[in-house]
Amino acid sequence: MQLRCVECGATFAPELIYRCKTCGGILEQLGHDEVAPFSFGEGRTPLLRASRIEASLPGFSGEIWLKDETRNPSGSFKDRLISAALGRAIAMGVKGVVCASSGNAGAATAAYAARAGVPAIIIVPAHTPMGKVTQIAAHGAVLLLVEGHYSRSYDLARALAEEHGFANLTTTFINPYAVAGLTEVGSEILAQLGHAAPSHVLIPTGSGPLVKGVWQGLLDAGATTRLVAVQAEGCAPIVQAFEADAKQVTAWGMPETIASGISDPLIGYERDGTYTLRLVRESGGLALSVSDDELRAAMRSLARLEGVYAEPTGASPIAALPRLVTEGHLPAGARVVCLITGHGFKDGRAYQEMPARTLRVEDPKNTVAVAKLCEEAMREHA
Ligand SMILES: *Cc1c(COP(=O)(O)O)cnc(C)c1O
Ligand SMILES: [Zn+2]
Repeated sequence: MQLRCVECGATFAPELIYRCKTCGGILEQLGHDEVAPFSFGEGRTPLLRASRIEASLPGFSGEIWLKDETRNPSGSFKDRLISAALGRAIAMGVKGVVCASSGNAGAATAAYAARAGVPAIIIVPAHTPMGKVTQIAAHGAVLLLVEGHYSRSYDLARALAEEHGFANLTTTFINPYAVAGLTEVGSEILAQLGHAAPSHVLIPTGSGPLVKGVWQGLLDAGATTRLVAVQAEGCAPIVQAFEADAKQVTAWGMPETIASGISDPLIGYERDGTYTLRLVRESGGLALSVSDDELRAAMRSLARLEGVYAEPTGASPIAALPRLVTEGHLPAGARVVCLITGHGFKDGRAYQEMPARTLRVEDPKNTVAVAKLCEEAMREHA
């Protein structure tokens, strides 16, 4: 196994390096890692047919599937990256690990490091949702809160890794071993569909390792699938470049969205976004952004039509569906896979604010009155 620069093609021995020594470019893992991942039940997540969502989409006649990544041990697909990268870090004999995160990668690192007995430092923006912060703290990691957007946490993790000898488990394109852990998302989808390739895979996109993983897994198996990168309107650097027909992605200013998992302005590592955009284009796909209101509606559909409880980011592919249909991107017979990337337990605030069929029972002995109330509530549109 080797590391190879995706930009200049230079190759390197498998060390703990985070960018090309020749041009500073993104490194990818070439070939299979002989080092075992530190596994904890991640991966092999279910692929669920979403027939009630299909029926709710006017003008759509195809298949919608949900790749339910909420089922991973810490509740997001980040477990796949951390499993691979932590196995590597342990094999290299590091004294500890550091991870800059918008919450989920930090939760994954904290859980996996706890189980491995490896010291962990997690760095998150101070406004990270409480569920994610609680999860990180619960596992006993050293938790650093940094004011401002995610890119500031990213810089601090890089400094701690480069100057103080911690392995950097940040899940942008910085750690090639982590990113390689996502190739299985693509190959699992293909196997679960009986090797009939999906026409489209819809992917919540921050810096883009998940796009790369799905792309690689499908490509290695010879499948041709259009990849759709979904971002939030309040933080959409890749969509902005896609729509402008630009080759380079430029950083976003201040993110403003309820989708914390994809709230990454890419300041200082714009090349991650440029690489992701390149893969999306090579697949014949597209990038589009969704509003917070569309995200809320999608969370509601997932929970009420399919029984899947997702954080706002996890529902973003569902939020993209209506527009993809009306704009003609999903022709009859399309087989669409939506990656549901993170669990609702992590950030349930949007659900708490939705109208619900919640009733206060004054007299639980009066079952006639209670049954009547229930039937009224069932008739109401909640
Ligand atoms: C990290 C994350 C993403 C974005 O993944 P990238 O590989 O950085 O593009 C999407 N959804 C959730 C829930 C995440 O935690
Ligand atoms: Zn290079």
